[in-house]
Amino acid sequence: MQELSEGCVLCHQGAKMVLFLTGRCPRSCWYCPISGERRGRDVAYANDRRIESDADLIEEGRIMSALGTGVTGGEPLIVMDLLVHYCSLLKSEFGEEHHIHLYTGKVPSPEELQQLQGLVDEIRLHPPHECWPEIMHSAYIPAIRAAKELGFVVGIEVPSLPGLEDLIPVLPLLDFLNINELEWSETNAQSMRSLGYDLEDSYHNAVGGARAWADAILAFDRVHWCSSVFKDSVQLRERLKRIARNTARDFDEITEDGTVVYGVWEPSGQDIPLDQDLYEEVGDQLHMAWWLLAEHAERLQGTKYVVERYPNGGMVVEVTPL
Ligand code: SF4
Repeated sequence: MQELSEGCVLCHQGAKMVLFLTGRCPRSCWYCPISGERRGRDVAYANDRRIESDADLIEEGRIMSALGTGVTGGEPLIVMDLLVHYCSLLKSEFGEEHHIHLYTGKVPSPEELQQLQGLVDEIRLHPPHECWPEIMHSAYIPAIRAAKELGFVVGIEVPSLPGLEDLIPVLPLLDFLNINELEWSETNAQSMRSLGYDLEDSYHNAVGGARAWADAILAFDRVHWCSSVFKDSVQLRERLKRIARNTARDFDEITEDGTVVYGVWEPSGQDIPLDQDLYEEVGDQLHMAWWLLAEHAERLQGTKYVVERYPNGGMVVEVTPL
């Protein structure tokens, strides 16, 4: 099996920031997973952080110690100025070694490739499903050749759909071909049902049978399978751990999943019988190590509970009363 592309290696470490550049796209793939909140809108996000200014992008990159960025959408090439602006900003802020990969459903023009040279390291093309049987006669072929000549690492990245074997002839021209396990989302559920597809199980978003469609092409060296489980469990977990390492307070416990756990006491007018170094005042709450709160729970009046959440003030996963 050939090695993963540099973009994928960094993704496995949770070190790739996801830059969602726009929700607008000239295509309307029946399987498009983009959320209703973002689809069709000119909004940009760095991971889950809405980008209102350059500082938002840089800040998100810093708190996760990003070693690279994956630019996606929607269609990034339809907001070329923004794409060039943010890629230049990332390279100047995090250095030339900050690895950038770009997803695009369009056929990049020679002018667009020239504009992106030195800014984007890896281009991942997403040809429309309907053109796979004729891929060798499509405009993607001259674009792949041109991109290679300009020094880009070039791959194709598509969801697992019937007919993947039609892409076998283009493999020799590529550095890699990634297959993303087809995923069910709130926005493509109706299309999935109308085609008779169903979820694989009740734990993940993977569509039943999607893996089998890739069997033939996965026999080839430079083809890689990216499962729904991997995205949920490895990619996200590793990213959360990086953010937790950079943002957790001394008493926050970082879990194997990258969440943080701490104790919260809401005193009801009682004097605080704890050393001030052991807790932090957050509004009318005291935050401390969860085990310390558990140890002293009986002699502390007021509401007490343990919180598990995504780091840096992220989503609350669980609240356990004490
Ligand atoms: S190219 Fe991507 S963003 Fe555009 S409709 Fe298809 S899946 Fe959605």
